[in-house]
Amino acid sequence: MSRRWLFADQLGPHFLDDRRQPVLLIESKAVFRRRVYHRQKAHLVLSALRHRAAELGDQAIFLRAETYRQALKKVREPLEVCHPTSRRARAFLRDLDRVTVLPARGFVTSLEDFADWADGRRGALRMEAFYRFAREHHGVLMQGRDPVGGRWSFDTENREPPPKTGKLDVPAPPMPKEDDIDAEVRADLDRWEREGIRFAGRDGPRRFPATAKEAKARLRHFLRHRLAAFGPYEDAMLTGDPWLAHSMLSAAFNLGLLDPAEAIRGAEQAYRQEGAPLASVEGFVRQVLGWRDYIWHTYWYFEPSWRGSNELAARRSLPDWWNDLDADAVDAHCLSDVLAGVRDRAWVHHIPRLMVLGNYALQRGWRPAELVEWFHTRFVDGYEWVMTGNVVSMSQYADLGRMTTKPYVSGGAYLNRMSDYCGGCRYDPRKRLGEKACPFTAGYWAFLSANRPRIPANARMARTMKQLERLSDLDAVVAQEKRRGSDPP
Ligand SMILES: Cc1cc2nc3c(=O)[nH]c(=O)nc-3n(C[C@H](O)[C@H](O)[C@H](O)COP(=O)(O)OP(=O)(O)OC[C@H]3O[C@@H](n4cnc5c(N)ncnc54)[C@H](O)[C@@H]3O)c2cc1C
Ligand code: SF4
Repeated sequence: MSRRWLFADQLGPHFLDDRRQPVLLIESKAVFRRRVYHRQKAHLVLSALRHRAAELGDQAIFLRAETYRQALKKVREPLEVCHPTSRRARAFLRDLDRVTVLPARGFVTSLEDFADWADGRRGALRMEAFYRFAREHHGVLMQGRDPVGGRWSFDTENREPPPKTGKLDVPAPPMPKEDDIDAEVRADLDRWEREGIRFAGRDGPRRFPATAKEAKARLRHFLRHRLAAFGPYEDAMLTGDPWLAHSMLSAAFNLGLLDPAEAIRGAEQAYRQEGAPLASVEGFVRQVLGWRDYIWHTYWYFEPSWRGSNELAARRSLPDWWNDLDADAVDAHCLSDVLAGVRDRAWVHHIPRLMVLGNYALQRGWRPAELVEWFHTRFVDGYEWVMTGNVVSMSQYADLGRMTTKPYVSGGAYLNRMSDYCGGCRYDPRKRLGEKACPFTAGYWAFLSANRPRIPANARMARTMKQLERLSDLDAVVAQEKRRGSDPP
């Protein structure tokens, strides 16, 4: 049996064919010299890799080296590896003649099935259409040829504002217990920092699974205790409750610790056997079978230059306070709280990423390529393949809508509806001019004004553009936001 080389994001049992298969694991230090990763992300990746090496024991050769190339010099036998998750890694593997690349794992739909589906379609490849295909193809939440409950999506039931109590009544997810391996990782990272390797954010207890066992435990707890509340409060944000009912499983999926097919089966079982509400179950399945796979497949299916799109000609560099996660420099309550979440946990949920962080960056005209690097390195679940779809396309509209029909840009009214942030803020979400002008509300109009010629006209934008035309104080708002620029709001 050939030795299976497992990359550091291929760590679960589903990346092996046989429990006794010989394995190669490589820890490369150069990876951490090339980029400024969040300290907690570096910790999680190293911890997961070293835990896997410890689990496999003699079955694995575990090499710590500066680069992959240096490590590979120490292994003479032929190797096989599952399809990697970045174009850069795929090109690297092509150069190595003794490595056989196997089909991808860790996603539900295969690359071939996606390509067959996409090749046969005309027009935009939207997530909703792919999701429907995937539900039918894999027989998930189906009743014969129809979706259970008679609808493909319960999205409209997944947008409740947060509860007025300021907290969601669900048990917190169990946090992993750190062990000797974590202590060793922490000591190594401290030493690397002293040697000059830079990290962002604050160190903290490890909050995300580093083993398949921990990942399964988090999934079980989510399905039993949190899934029911996931659906309605998917989009809500609360100052004192960053997790709400989210699964906190993205890092486990992306490290390859947890097979997404298992999570989908578990959710379907919770609906069919334990009476979990369909709107929540379908909402979760849509995220994993739909969105996650769709983002993966479009990364490979669309041309590589998609990643560099900048059709809105955004030219400003990310400011230092943003790069340094300096939440204390920011007065705007929503942005300060979310940035503090990134600084302290290397994770915030989907809506803060899209409607606070991404929205603000879009309004300020920051370069999508720099934002890609930021999201990739500052988040515990950030990987190359996740970036183009989520950051370049969905959040920054830098390709003028390959995945969305309009930009995800909003003023303070949306944030006020979906969070408890505005009550404790020095700004007023209704004001666009003056001392109390909400930077999101004012920034929204300034963004539309600046980008009006570039944003394709369509029915979903028509009403907004009409409102823009009617703003009597637009020039003053634009001038005010020009003065604010990229300073911390
Ligand atoms: C600007 C931006 C950047 C993002 N960066 C990342 C990233 O680096 N890594 C990442 O995994 N997700 C990313 N996402 C998607 C999403 O925000 C996270 O997957 C989610 O917040 C992780 O928390 P969770 O595990 O509690 O997810 P839940 O809300 O519980 O959702 C369940 C699962 O669905 C999957 N999922 C849902 N939406 C997406 C999506 N759009 N893309 C990929 N997977 C999805 C995730 O695996 C997630 O664990 C990003 C979204 C935006 C808008
Ligand atoms: S008023 Fe504006 S800046 Fe303040 S919390 Fe609300 S949306 Fe954010």
